[in-house]
Amino acid sequence: MNSSSPIRILLSDCEPWRSFITFRQQRVSTNQKVCSRRDAQILRDFLKIGESEPPTTVLSKVCATFRIGVRIDPKIEKAQGMVIGNRSGEITILLSDRCSEARTQSLEAHEIAHVFFAMLHQKDVIDYEALEEYCWSFASELVCPMSTRLRWAVEFDDDEACFRFAHLSSIARNAKISIRLAISALDRHPLLGLLQAGIVIIRMVPNRFTGKDRDLRIWQCARPYWGYLPTNQSCRKRGFVGAYSFFDTGRHFQSVSIDENLCLLRKKFDLAKWTPDVFTSKCEYTCVDVQNEGRYLVAIWKWPSPIREPFV
Ligand SMILES: [Zn+2]
Repeated sequence: MNSSSPIRILLSDCEPWRSFITFRQQRVSTNQKVCSRRDAQILRDFLKIGESEPPTTVLSKVCATFRIGVRIDPKIEKAQGMVIGNRSGEITILLSDRCSEARTQSLEAHEIAHVFFAMLHQKDVIDYEALEEYCWSFASELVCPMSTRLRWAVEFDDDEACFRFAHLSSIARNAKISIRLAISALDRHPLLGLLQAGIVIIRMVPNRFTGKDRDLRIWQCARPYWGYLPTNQSCRKRGFVGAYSFFDTGRHFQSVSIDENLCLLRKKFDLAKWTPDVFTSKCEYTCVDVQNEGRYLVAIWKWPSPIREPFV
């Protein structure tokens, strides 16, 4: 949705947008930075959404209150979802008919985030990637707020206690959200700190700043609070070397574990600087093929040595 669209100007004068914008202004000071999770929490509070309400109920409440139409449209080809609006202020979210139920729901939450960004951040200019990041984290906070996420747990069958793709997909299944949204919801989650693990999504894309050098790149991350892998960088540079052959040969939902020498940025204590750290990780790659979106790898990496008491 175009952020300079005339729809916003029309809508911000109408109810319930006017009440919502006032409600938010009472909770956020004007000089605070754009924060997707806070915006989504304020929306949940505004709609008095209970903690245990399932994602479907949350989404229909938002759409009913703000009169956002949702339509499955087989004609959508380039994107899996989009927002359209007209001059009388009607907003409709169009979703592809080729996605799984969980994926469709995550896309709906993501497109809702685009609508709210356009309404709330008229003066905030952010680039495309930052906007997409805003929308995914708004979406995850909207359908599974932090209070719910903090109860997420992982059970292990063996003593190895190694976080795997199977655990990730069971988290997504239980929360009734897509894998991609679960990864977004796990970013900086204490669980990853405790498991000493992180997740990256790897895709074949050009450098997002130059539009050149197509390569396997880190596309999305769920980071433990003490570790960090920059997105956009080539897998080779960060040590995900096995990704290259597995990307070509892997089959849908197939997983392999490979020892990789990864390079991440790490903090040894809360106020320390991020410093590069090279380590050998048992890295599990899982190949996922999504119709309309292509192939990506989910790589779960594990920090080899025990972290002392987690710092906050
Ligand atoms: Zn988007």
